[in-house]
Amino acid sequence: MKRVFITGALGQLGRALTELLKNRQEYMLYLTDSYPEADHMVKMLDITDEALVKSEIAAIYPDIIINCAAMTAVDLCETEKEMAYNINALGPKYIAEAAHKLGAKLFHISTDYVYDGQAVTPYTEESKPNPISVYGSTKLAGDNYVMNCCPNATILHTSGLYGAGKNFVNTMLKLADEGKRIRVVADQITTPTSALELARVIIFLMETDSCGKYHASCEGSTGWYGFACKIFELTGRKPIIDAISTSEYPTPAKRPLYSVLDNKKLRALHGYYMKEWEEALKEYLERKVINHEI
Ligand code: NDP
Repeated sequence: MKRVFITGALGQLGRALTELLKNRQEYMLYLTDSYPEADHMVKMLDITDEALVKSEIAAIYPDIIINCAAMTAVDLCETEKEMAYNINALGPKYIAEAAHKLGAKLFHISTDYVYDGQAVTPYTEESKPNPISVYGSTKLAGDNYVMNCCPNATILHTSGLYGAGKNFVNTMLKLADEGKRIRVVADQITTPTSALELARVIIFLMETDSCGKYHASCEGSTGWYGFACKIFELTGRKPIIDAISTSEYPTPAKRPLYSVLDNKKLRALHGYYMKEWEEALKEYLERKVINHEI
């Protein structure tokens, strides 16, 4: 049985991984997060606490570590720069050092926001990062630490993640159900990716000799407005929705205007294809209906 150690287990990706792995006989899960509260399955671990990270990981001696912990509040990162650096850069460094020391297979998750959005065709793993926000810069610093401290690590870059909890899909559904008129940015092109689809890729790669940087987003692309329209189409909602431009919706952090990722390496090395974003969204919404969440 392989021991799998997950940080940030209560986040969107952490929950998706737990759902898929919890009944698999071949894996034993060790779940951690910074504020587990009443969840007795999840142990408290703040990844910015170097000594604790290293002692907890050494005590478990995991075969696989998946770092899902991050500071993902992109706008908050602009004002809380030190916290963002500690969580997105130093935390991954400590985890990578621990993984390397024990010979554990490490998966670290990164973002499309390491790119500047000036491209007109999808970014590949060879594209040069050039972040335009604190979130993107701190995530890139984390990627660099991970690669330097644990050269066999696998880093997956994804985009527009949605799973359990607060995310774009749930916000859109809530606004529509409240009868609000909705304004959504149309000129930032990305690929919405379900946490479940990303979790499936990680689980697939766990049994391969993957290492280095991978792009792992659903296939296809759209703007946030197009994404919102699809959510309403698939759930039969008909709110009034206005397409607006980025300049009409100023935010503290700059976002790349184009951040579509090409999963070139997943396809070429493993023959692995992720779902089209519309198909993954349909699956996500169907599961919400089955779980009586909508
Ligand atoms: P979430 O924000 O849903 O989950 C992150 C988890 O990490 C939360 O449970 C959070 O707890 C926890 N966490 C925060 N700080 C610490 C800390 N110091 N120590 C331990 N745990 C901590 O993130 P996602 O699941 O959406 O993202 C997973 C990965 O994917 C991240 O690396 C992210 O950068 C990347 N990504 C995400 C995208 C998105 O759209 N969400 C897009 C592209 C990449 P709490 O909630 O209490 O802070």
